[in-house]
Amino acid sequence: MENIAVLGSTGSIGTSGLDVISKFPDRFKVCGLSTNTNVELLRKQAKIFKPEAVCVSGGSGNKGKFGKIMVYEGEDGLCGMLRDVKIDTVLVGIVGSSALLPIITVLDKVKKMALANKEALVMAGGIIMNKAAKNKVTVVPVDSEHSAIFQCIGKSGREDLRRIFLTGSGGPLLKVKKSGFKDITVKEAVNHPRWKMGKKISVDSATMMNKGLEVIEASWLFNMGINSIEILIHPEAVVHSMVEFRDGAILAQLGACDMRIPIQYALTYPERLDSSIKGLDFSNIRELKFLKPDTKKFQCIDLAYEAGKRSGTFPSVLNASNEIAVREFIEGRIRFIDIPRIIEKVMGLHRGIKNPGLGDILEADKWARVKTKELLNK
Ligand code: MG
Repeated sequence: MENIAVLGSTGSIGTSGLDVISKFPDRFKVCGLSTNTNVELLRKQAKIFKPEAVCVSGGSGNKGKFGKIMVYEGEDGLCGMLRDVKIDTVLVGIVGSSALLPIITVLDKVKKMALANKEALVMAGGIIMNKAAKNKVTVVPVDSEHSAIFQCIGKSGREDLRRIFLTGSGGPLLKVKKSGFKDITVKEAVNHPRWKMGKKISVDSATMMNKGLEVIEASWLFNMGINSIEILIHPEAVVHSMVEFRDGAILAQLGACDMRIPIQYALTYPERLDSSIKGLDFSNIRELKFLKPDTKKFQCIDLAYEAGKRSGTFPSVLNASNEIAVREFIEGRIRFIDIPRIIEKVMGLHRGIKNPGLGDILEADKWARVKTKELLNK
């Protein structure tokens, strides 16, 4: 039996992950679950999966609510649970930068990490990938595009790759004119046409910062320069990404928009097991379009490329400023069009550090949060 911990088990990735895990009771034993604040759902999950421990990382006062199960609390509590419990495989479904320290902690003990979180890789991809390599931890991406790229690369070496095509559906605002962006509501921004996801990533899809973050994520996962990664808008969302090899051959991965496919692949890798998810009906799809993104409309893409090229602490600043701006937008305090504006300003004020350590990265993250709030309050 494989001991598996699901971090962020009450979120979109976590619930899909537990659905996948429940299909293979002879293979996986859930040993740990964590939520930020959704204690009610965590209790339901704990009743079904009977983990050894759970963690409520965004709250306290929950000890005793889980019967005999060990309860950890707070962000330190999550790292504590990861140190104490025996874990073979971890599924990281936590959203945002708060995944970083848990990831660094759990890399000391697991054999495999199924990684859905992109923000930690954006901030500290070099540190994470080096630690994974040193500890011989297999990192299998869960983000649909990166899972596609991982599958296309297969057993080929880094030297065989020429280019990566990162596809994206274009999000809910693909057909909205730029002049209409100032009136975009939260409801419109989170209304993704293809994927059902959490709020933060849905807003990131609307600004297309999500695609920008994914470019940086891919550059770390696959050891590729930022300039070798190209974004393609692909509204049908049938091709989940493509890889071009040195001989000019291109491989693509296709499938339904169902996160359980990349999650299951990551959990069972290098094997493939049965699933009830249907394939595609190509005669119904009829056409596939691929377009260059409009970076005048979606300025976050250029900001992400710039942060990726400048590297060092810039991606952390990009990410932190974006997290704050998105939260302010969701809570109705700023407009949709303020998101790229504020991030650009904060990046312009940052004095970057080359080859940062974890301390520098966390410091830059903190600085950018304070700076973003300060500028927004003006
Ligand atoms: Mg994605």
